[in-house]
Amino acid sequence: MARNDTQLSWKEALKRNVRAWRTIGRCQPKLFGTAVLPAVFDGLGPYVTIYLSARIIEELAGERNPGRLTFLVAVCLIASAAVLFGRGAFKRWAQVEKTCFYEGEEKIYMDKAASMEFALIDRQQTYDLYSQIMQNRQWASYGLYRDAYYLSDLLRALLQIAGGLGLSVTLFLAKVPSSSDLAFLNSPLAAAACLGLLLLIAVAAPALKNKAEGYYWVRYAEMARLGNRQFGYFFSASVDRKRYADMRMYCQNDNLLGPLWENCDSFMPGSAIAELAKGRMGLLAGLSRTLSAVLTGAVYLFVCLKAWAGAFGVGMVTQYVGAITNLFLGVSEFLELCGTLRANASFLDTTFAYLDLPNEMYQGSLTTEKRSDRQYQVEFRDVSFKYPGSETWALRHVNMTFQVGSRLAVVGQNGSGKTTFIKLLCRLYDPTEGEILLNGIDIRKYRYEDYIQIFSVVFQDFQLFALPLGENVAGRTDYDREQVWNCLKKAGFEERMSRMTKGLDTYLYKDLDKEGVEISGGEAQKIAIARALYKEAPFLILDEPTAALDPIAEAEIYGKFNEIATDKTTVYISHRLSSCKFCDEIAVFDQGAVVQEGSHEELLSDEDGKYYELWHAQAQYYTEEAVRVLLG
Ligand code: ADP
Repeated sequence: MARNDTQLSWKEALKRNVRAWRTIGRCQPKLFGTAVLPAVFDGLGPYVTIYLSARIIEELAGERNPGRLTFLVAVCLIASAAVLFGRGAFKRWAQVEKTCFYEGEEKIYMDKAASMEFALIDRQQTYDLYSQIMQNRQWASYGLYRDAYYLSDLLRALLQIAGGLGLSVTLFLAKVPSSSDLAFLNSPLAAAACLGLLLLIAVAAPALKNKAEGYYWVRYAEMARLGNRQFGYFFSASVDRKRYADMRMYCQNDNLLGPLWENCDSFMPGSAIAELAKGRMGLLAGLSRTLSAVLTGAVYLFVCLKAWAGAFGVGMVTQYVGAITNLFLGVSEFLELCGTLRANASFLDTTFAYLDLPNEMYQGSLTTEKRSDRQYQVEFRDVSFKYPGSETWALRHVNMTFQVGSRLAVVGQNGSGKTTFIKLLCRLYDPTEGEILLNGIDIRKYRYEDYIQIFSVVFQDFQLFALPLGENVAGRTDYDREQVWNCLKKAGFEERMSRMTKGLDTYLYKDLDKEGVEISGGEAQKIAIARALYKEAPFLILDEPTAALDPIAEAEIYGKFNEIATDKTTVYISHRLSSCKFCDEIAVFDQGAVVQEGSHEELLSDEDGKYYELWHAQAQYYTEEAVRVLLG
């Protein structure tokens, strides 16, 4: 397992954290506002009590004036209560904002994914980056979330230092009577030595803690991420109800998941991380705590010696001890936070690598004009395409013109390039060679958002949301109910819909509503077709639209095809040739090239052609082969 032994420079760490805060601020500006008030109350609040208690003790040790004492006690009580109230209230407010940023962070990644060109989303490296960000967040909240969380802590530590300095500065100025044996404490050297010692301990304690935690966590980040990934997969797989039937039939629980669990050893006793936690990390953390205790002892010693020698009274002892203890707690916390943020900067690297993924696709500015005549003519001119990182051509020298309002079927064996052809048509990818033209202009010159508006596609692996049926079809929450209903009817969903008691408001699946309905693959496909119809785009593309439908439902869709397609230019992809007969034109794909074009009859009359071969191979399967299988 790779170990990361390099530590980031402080400058680089600062740069990344500042960028993280800017990113957080853009997403959730309120988080900054809510971080300030709790920091003020938390950082300065304790000094109010320390200061007023010291005045009460001074009064008790001095004149003991009952009126003054009562006044001081009342002020101390009211002020302390107000501070506690403020702390509680503002902390709660800040906590809400911090928790909201958990979703806010997701939104940052979601927006990035939405603006990313499809080729990038499709790339494995992109997914790997995203899942690393999620793993970093899950195993120790590293990444943007940690910066959001530590913002008020950092402010609080700074205010705590400022407050402590304010109340303790006179400790070093107060003079011991020159007749005292301890008069040497008056010398600036003694004050500097004492302050230096305190500072040294205050710096060493958090440094040890940072070494114990941040440094080792960064070093073993990859191992921790893998462990988290394995744990995550184990838990999601073991509660995934879609797997229950398989799990039961093949005893996968014992045979696959059990060993997977046993192999999740990143955090188990005996792993490198566990050994470190027991050994060096534990030792360093223990040393850090010990130094903190030594620091408190040293403060007491210095303050008490000066008081004993007569530099100040007992009230000031309370003030100085309280203020300095708090001051060094602040210093300690500030340094610890700096160490943690430095460690976090290593994890932010992954976050920014993802957010900085460049969009290399050319973005044009022409508008597609919403033409009322829907005369959008698309032409593929000598188009060839290789997927990024692939050496083989997925499409080669494709020439094709879509006649407005025509029905084109694209057929071919699996892997022949049919889906790739559609992905290029919808500009999910740009051609490697050649060009695609819309009304004579290269599609790259159009605004991307405008261009994709002219297509409705039912992809082979379409996805629906666990949201109400109507919202799934319309793709939005405010929609034309009648129109949605008509589209569902056209797609053949009428009968199933009549069994849904809440109609268009019925939730699909049970993820978000216990009364949600489970739907079959065929029913889902009909909903996806209705969604494509609702968009009312001039191009309708159906990629294997009947693959999950039974023969009756399939026949039903064909029967309604003209009603569904109306005046749209329709592209119909299928490897089942019998379902393409009704199209005006059929394009036969083979190994990325269009090898034949024509009507069903024309293509079938060419006995040396690919279509003839495929047709007879399938006809045999559906007739002789099927009968043979059925009759045993
Ligand atoms: P069809 O739709 O006809 O089944 P595809 O267009 O999906 O075929 O695939 C054409 C070729 O491109 C196949 O060889 C396939 O393996 C390859 N291919 C498809 N998607 C990708 C991808 N994202 N990355 C690399 N190669 C791909």
